[in-house]
Amino acid sequence: MYEWHWHIEWQTPYEYHAHAIKRVIAEERSEFQRVLLVELFRFGKSLIIDGKVQSTVSDEYIYHETLVHPLLITLDNPKDVLILGGGEGATLREVLKHKSVNSAVMVDIDPVVIDFAKKYLYEWHQGSFDNPKTKLIIGDGYKFVKETNQKFDAVILDLTDPIKDSPSQLLYTVEFYKQVKGILKENGGLVTQATSPSFSLDTFSAIYNTLRNVFKYVSASIAYIPGFDSLWGFVYASDYRSPSSLTAEQVDKLIKETIIGELKFYDGETHEMIFSIPKHIRVKLESEKRISTEKEPIAVPA
Ligand code: SAM
Repeated sequence: MYEWHWHIEWQTPYEYHAHAIKRVIAEERSEFQRVLLVELFRFGKSLIIDGKVQSTVSDEYIYHETLVHPLLITLDNPKDVLILGGGEGATLREVLKHKSVNSAVMVDIDPVVIDFAKKYLYEWHQGSFDNPKTKLIIGDGYKFVKETNQKFDAVILDLTDPIKDSPSQLLYTVEFYKQVKGILKENGGLVTQATSPSFSLDTFSAIYNTLRNVFKYVSASIAYIPGFDSLWGFVYASDYRSPSSLTAEQVDKLIKETIIGELKFYDGETHEMIFSIPKHIRVKLESEKRISTEKEPIAVPA
């Protein structure tokens, strides 16, 4: 009926979401993945990797604020932050809003994504790659965590979904989470994006349960992301404290004290919403027994 070109994104082998493309801005097959930058009619400029929308200019703040701030405000004045993945630079942008942060190390495996971000995604990174607190490393996050001698207050896993045999799949395993725990300072914490509770609830709950096997306090949040046409899941883990223990009033106070500038999505009221998990998802999280391992790593269904 409509004669557009379409981006078709499979969520499971049985369903897809299609976005009409206004124009293709750039496209490249990197050593690791297929990287595509388009303008979508509804969501504007959007980064797509291996057929999956990573973020769109119109709603990326929902994902990036939910990923970064609940963890960082829960820790006591985090100074050294490690981001694995995070290609667009928007996670870095949010991390650098924290007054206490002295150093933000970002490790992304794909130089093509970083080139795209620097050239075309200013709205996302807003110059964060040039911030003197930033150290950008092109490399495998898995290898970096194994080899580094540095310790971090927070580790933020802003990775592509665990697609079977993709470069991020092993960064959702119990072995890897144990390695991350080893590079956290005492009272440090980790957060990971944890795929879609709408389309891959099994993957979300397996990530949650895998982290529960490594850390004392594990909590989950969910936020609706229009560009993904789905709820999105995030899991926070620490041996110190959980963001879910904060009240709305505490969140508003902490945001005022610790963050420079205005947030668009996250505040006390939003905090209560994203940590209010509906019963069927809570039951699934609590009853999950599977653990993602290097031998049998979890993967999204499509
Ligand atoms: N918001 C996103 C989503 O919905 O999946 C994730 C954003 S970000 C673009 C994902 C980044 O993870 C990509 O830039 C990709 O190159 C990076 N990545 C994948 N595997 C990696 C690995 N093993 N080490 C470091 N970065 C990795």
